[in-house]
Amino acid sequence: MFENLSEKLQRSFKNLRGEGTISDENISEALREIRLALLESDVNLAVVDELIEHIRTRAVGSQVATALSPTEQIVKIVHDELVNVLGRDTARFKFSSQPPSVILMAGLQGSGKTTTTAKLAQWLKKGGHRPMLVSVDVYRPAAREQLKVVAQSISAQLYEGHLDVKGAGTDEVLRLAREAKREAANYGCDILIVDTAGRNHIDAELMDEMAALKKLLNPSEILFVADAMTGQDAVNSAKAFNDHLTITGAILTKMDGDARGGAALSIRHVTGAPIKFLGTGEKPDAFEAFHPDRIVGRIMGHGDIATLLERAEERLDKGKAEQFAKKALTGDGFTLEDFRDQLRQIKKMGSMKSILKMLPSVGPFAGMSKAVENVDEGQFNRVENIINSMTAKERADHELINGSRRKRIAAGSGTTVQDVNNLLRQYAQMRKMFKTMGSGGGIKAQQRMLS
Ligand code: GDP
Repeated sequence: MFENLSEKLQRSFKNLRGEGTISDENISEALREIRLALLESDVNLAVVDELIEHIRTRAVGSQVATALSPTEQIVKIVHDELVNVLGRDTARFKFSSQPPSVILMAGLQGSGKTTTTAKLAQWLKKGGHRPMLVSVDVYRPAAREQLKVVAQSISAQLYEGHLDVKGAGTDEVLRLAREAKREAANYGCDILIVDTAGRNHIDAELMDEMAALKKLLNPSEILFVADAMTGQDAVNSAKAFNDHLTITGAILTKMDGDARGGAALSIRHVTGAPIKFLGTGEKPDAFEAFHPDRIVGRIMGHGDIATLLERAEERLDKGKAEQFAKKALTGDGFTLEDFRDQLRQIKKMGSMKSILKMLPSVGPFAGMSKAVENVDEGQFNRVENIINSMTAKERADHELINGSRRKRIAAGSGTTVQDVNNLLRQYAQMRKMFKTMGSGGGIKAQQRMLS
């Protein structure tokens, strides 16, 4: 999501390398490139100018700091200033003292509001809350139906209510919202998330309706959902919503697309409201809390190991991992069944691309960000399909898999005999590698060194 900006910043830092001191001249050259990198990434002009001024002032003032090389100094200053633009701390989620707390979702049609409503509900559920969802889009039955489907998919409570279609209008919206809040309280739900009507553009009617909802529900959060792919348009509509409603935060969706990231760097500055979450895919779990310092880490090419580890902690089955380690290291114990299990575990971490993107693009992982473009996500599925097409006996003992069985497996999995051969070869190599590690080549040798 920030590859472009990241790459361009790296280049401007590279040009500084070898300079003994920071001079007005080399600062100006670096700043010109940083400015261009920000503008090309669609960062709002006012934000760019302010950022550059801050960086210049600090860079000139830091000439005496001798512990760092000039490049390191500039990198550190740019890092700090980017964190400042995004807001230093991770924004907290607010609840009202009297449940249910109401979260009002605002945004234009197509921004990802309904999908995000479900993602947020799932995130809150994981945190031990009991959210109820309601759609008050009385104008588009399909929108209400969509929320019903996604609510079901994550097993969240939904208040459906009844519509008097003939009278559809703000009164109807307010009636539904009032009923939903009462229903949430009756069901013991501590949060009500209200998915509101979206429009193609901002108009007075939409804003009046949102204002009426705000007055009625007294929400603890008004979250503006913005499609990051729309760049400056997202920033402008965030500003318009904020002028009318005073939003408490923003959620940027579609950060998995080729959004240049400028919206992320501009929204906070333009509205004063922090970004609270990012949407990174269509599925309910493609959603992350927004941590300014981690995002800046990604922008600066330092990766985001913290998020990666959190994801592993959250989604991987620890018992399985330990069991696997024990079995695999005896070498012979590692079957094709285990291989498939491991693949499934890795897949739980997200797409291969999303994992690779969190690794630093400088240092030992340099060049990985290029490799990301060539990752074949289908490969995992093909391998899994091949193993699925084997019988339990074959999975337990790969030596059974002779020529005719290979043909059958290829046909069953929609692959070729060559694909099956490749997989079996890889599997044999892994088995051998684990065996060596278990018998003293790797882990045991390491243990000896540490004892
Ligand atoms: P709404 O009209 O604002 O309620 O938007 P929807 O929730 O219906 O989303 C519009 C489209 O964007 C749908 O196809 C969603 O699957 C898609 N979408 C939403 N969030 C994301 C995201 O973070 N990444 C991607 N790739 N697609 C998303």
